[in-house]
Amino acid sequence: MREPVVGLEIHLQLKTKTKLFCSCSSDYIGATPNTNVCPVCLAIPGTLPILNDHAVELAVKMGLGLHCSISDNTRFHRKHYFYADLPKAYQITQYEHPIAVGGYVDIAAGGKTKRIRVHHLHLEEDAGKLVHPTSDGRLTGASYSLVDYNRGGMPLSEIVSEPDMNSAEEVLAYITQIRQLARYLDVSDGEMESGSLRVDVNISLRNDDGSLGTRVEIKNVNSLRSIERALGYEIARQNKVLDEGGCLVRETRLWDDVAGVTRSMRSKEGERDYRYYVEMDLAPISAGPEYVEEIRKSLPEMPWEKRERFIRDHSLSEEEAAQLTEQKETADYFEECVSAGAPAAKCANWMRMEVQRLLHEMDLPIEKFPVKASELGKLIVRVEKRELSNTQAKDVLAVMAEKELPVDEAIKACGVSCGKITGPALEEIIKKVFAGEPEAVETVRAGNDKKGAKVKFLQGLVMRETRGSADPAEVASLVNSMLK
Ligand SMILES: [Zn+2]
Repeated sequence: MREPVVGLEIHLQLKTKTKLFCSCSSDYIGATPNTNVCPVCLAIPGTLPILNDHAVELAVKMGLGLHCSISDNTRFHRKHYFYADLPKAYQITQYEHPIAVGGYVDIAAGGKTKRIRVHHLHLEEDAGKLVHPTSDGRLTGASYSLVDYNRGGMPLSEIVSEPDMNSAEEVLAYITQIRQLARYLDVSDGEMESGSLRVDVNISLRNDDGSLGTRVEIKNVNSLRSIERALGYEIARQNKVLDEGGCLVRETRLWDDVAGVTRSMRSKEGERDYRYYVEMDLAPISAGPEYVEEIRKSLPEMPWEKRERFIRDHSLSEEEAAQLTEQKETADYFEECVSAGAPAAKCANWMRMEVQRLLHEMDLPIEKFPVKASELGKLIVRVEKRELSNTQAKDVLAVMAEKELPVDEAIKACGVSCGKITGPALEEIIKKVFAGEPEAVETVRAGNDKKGAKVKFLQGLVMRETRGSADPAEVASLVNSMLK
């Protein structure tokens, strides 16, 4: 098998309130088609674009998160093509002067860290959406098409990587990392399902002499799973063509998720000339070092910094830290739980097991979890003090989640005899104390503890071990009977 070489173009829809060049709302999902439009985004002659500052700010944020240099002088170009999704017949995008250049992302794949270089990030407007209705969901065979311009003019930042990825695992790790960064920076929702994160894949195979083979672009991959499948299919297809002595064509292929194949869409040789030229209706943007510095200072802790800090300050394992920092909201919850006085290792454990399980059952994201982090912290503290057993605490947590109660009320509602260690739990502690003091136990059992000093000593140890949470009379009677 020849080594696959993959580069990605990721489009992130930026989280602004309005579109990139007009005041139409960016909240268009679910709206009636062609209601979220205005003369500017419909390209009525005589209208002019006005740049949305917030989109520039978000693009700079993302650029800084990707370790890019922010360009001092950036501007827009017109990219011409004629298609029904584009009412102006050109797209306003950045061509020769993108806003951010030359960054990188470190990914973890195959047990190693690998640096994927980012060529640049640029700003551009989105196109409308074409729908080709077919009865079976396939891409071909529709008898007509519908166009919806609600999405037209939405702000996108396109992140173009270098061809530094060599496996599906690396590709998925890179996309996941970009998505995590966009969410931490609150730049984009980064959801592939709703289309706020879209990926185009460029793939070629490396020949035996080290040279790169013909590059093929894959479009229409709408989930991580589709990307993985499309890559698997395309690597096998290209290898097969070459093995049989054939030649690959430089082309764009569409992934058909139903059939599980890629199909040729158009050959790159005949690709139209985009006739880029400067967008004279928009002035060049000169961000300036002060503006960039201000944004840099406003950046939150990055996901990889948080991960490192969790390992260092909370003594978590790599795996625990990675899981707890995957989403910012989960990381915040964890830290709040720790600041309620619960040990970090215990918080991590409860969150990864019990909280995860409940969230899954209730089908909720962590930010909607009805149990406050501070209340979970208090619950864990009570387990630590041995006022509750682990099993009891799990029941209490379930009640806290179900009935949205604070710890104390949930304990009452559960009818747990909280606050006292008794019965088998107490016997267990006594056994442990006996095991640690075999001489004292032997002395008593041999009848040589005439003044009862050793018995008192053992009872004292048990009381200390329960941190005062047991009834002294019960301790005395249990110690006595267990010494017999
Ligand atoms: Zn508009």
